[in-house]
Amino acid sequence: MSLIDIDRPSTWRFYKNGMCQACHGGCCTMPVEVKWDDLLRLGLVDESDQQAMKKTVKRLMKEGYITSYRQSTGLFMLSQKSNRDCYFLDTKTRLCTVYEKRPGVCREFPSIGPRPGYCPCFPKAGARD
Ligand code: SF4
Repeated sequence: MSLIDIDRPSTWRFYKNGMCQACHGGCCTMPVEVKWDDLLRLGLVDESDQQAMKKTVKRLMKEGYITSYRQSTGLFMLSQKSNRDCYFLDTKTRLCTVYEKRPGVCREFPSIGPRPGYCPCFPKAGARD
């Protein structure tokens, strides 16, 4: 099996059904930009927070959920842990802790992303390829 490099989409594997079951959560170690509606669904903001966006962004950063907000696109960058894991990824199980409420971009991956149709996927320790 060739080596997967998350930062080099040319090394990614073609996505097939069932691949996620044995994966270590590679896609959840990439930067994730989310929309306002995603933050609402995650329960991190409520409708009224949009009136004071600067204050809301400051709070979300202070609480550790996001690292930045781009006004031009309206996208918020989710925080990553020091090992690159998404803030919401369980380090041990390698599963999303907010799966039912996960952001739209996570639902659509790998249909969208740096290399549509391909994943930075490699098996969890102990799993077979
Ligand atoms: S929100 Fe969940 S599915 Fe999306 S990147 Fe984070 S851990 Fe993965």
